[in-house]
Amino acid sequence: MKVPFITKEQVEEIVKTYPTPFHIYDEKGIRENARAMNKAFSWNPGFKEYFAVKATPNPTILKILHEEGCGTDCSSMAELILSEKSGITGYDVMFSSNETPAEEFVKCAEIGGIINLDDITHIDFVLEALGGKLPKRMSCRYNPGGVFKLGETGEAVQVMDNPGDAKYGMTKEQIIEAYKRLADLGVEELGIHSFLASNTLSNDYYPALAKILFELAVEIKEVTGISLKFINLSGGVGISYTPDAPQNDIAVIGEGVHKAYDEVLVPAGMGDVAIFTELGRFMLAPYGHLITKAIHEKHIYKEYIGVDACAANLMRPAMYGSYHHVTVLGKEDAPATEVYDVVGSLCENNDKFAIDRKLPKIDMGDYICIHDTGAHGFSMGYNYNGRLWSSELLLREDSSILCIRRAQTLDDYFATLDGYWNLEV
Ligand SMILES: *Cc1c(COP(=O)(O)O)cnc(C)c1O
Repeated sequence: MKVPFITKEQVEEIVKTYPTPFHIYDEKGIRENARAMNKAFSWNPGFKEYFAVKATPNPTILKILHEEGCGTDCSSMAELILSEKSGITGYDVMFSSNETPAEEFVKCAEIGGIINLDDITHIDFVLEALGGKLPKRMSCRYNPGGVFKLGETGEAVQVMDNPGDAKYGMTKEQIIEAYKRLADLGVEELGIHSFLASNTLSNDYYPALAKILFELAVEIKEVTGISLKFINLSGGVGISYTPDAPQNDIAVIGEGVHKAYDEVLVPAGMGDVAIFTELGRFMLAPYGHLITKAIHEKHIYKEYIGVDACAANLMRPAMYGSYHHVTVLGKEDAPATEVYDVVGSLCENNDKFAIDRKLPKIDMGDYICIHDTGAHGFSMGYNYNGRLWSSELLLREDSSILCIRRAQTLDDYFATLDGYWNLEV
């Protein structure tokens, strides 16, 4: 069961001020989940979750998470500035970027963030960008290559992803070389980072990744004498977008990592290593809805419901064919007697929020809640067909509504043409 965190009555009030479509986030859910996350890793004194800013790049969301003890994981100039302007700087910032322009490394160093190097050649690149002096604390990204599987044998084996095909990170030989060089260059606190699989629905992903990184950390210590200060498990803990599959249990995941820590790091005398994470989806996705209104219906070879949101507001179904659960507000308990395609207005036939979906009978003017849009939702928005970004609203813990980003206007859309209307050609 997926139950919306707002009701039809609340939406009817909201639209008097903020018309549909809009993204809305649930402050209570965000805070409770962040607390559960921190509790699951409270066995590790240095633990920190660096929220992946790209998932939901809104300063109000970043501040709420910061109040709950989270930092930010940035990967561009805009994300670094967002973090800085949200009051999140220093070691609360991880910079896990790739193909990075020099000025972004400079910006990260300026706000005191932790640069996570994607490649061994970036040591010289950063050295030059920073005028010959590296920060005290840095990280390197690891790519083990091959295919990443969970489970030992037979049917239990689940292929999670294909790191050998991924552009990120360094090989084992390179990363060992990189640590030696960084230590020679005076970097005192080194860490490792790796991201092997995205949106995993398994309590075993983090523990399996942790074991790989912990064993490598022990090997690095044996080979180089360098004892890593932190191990960053990055993103990838997923959520179930469908109502039937069980959700990940962060307490079980935290315990799984704890077990690997006690088995591998502690016996190697590395019981003081801090664990970092960079979750985006897990921290925010379930706590966001895209609310849209049914404005057209048509009956041709299939039944269509046209809504006032489109893929420009939520790209995942069009881009990945992703399932997003849909609830017709006020009809939560009505029987699903119809089969609809729920579609947006783009001149693209993949602009479909739901395909062949069993839903209650939808009437024009009904408000439709698209679930799990809190991460990689608004942030992936674009302006195709001249469609504008929606507003972002926050449902506060006291049930009041705060607008945390206004909707884009046509003036915003045309702003980059300022002065270009009358070009003589
Ligand atoms: C996208 C990304 C994340 C967050 O991934 P989720 O799947 O949202 O948890 C974390 N770290 C890096 C480097 C990323 O690129």
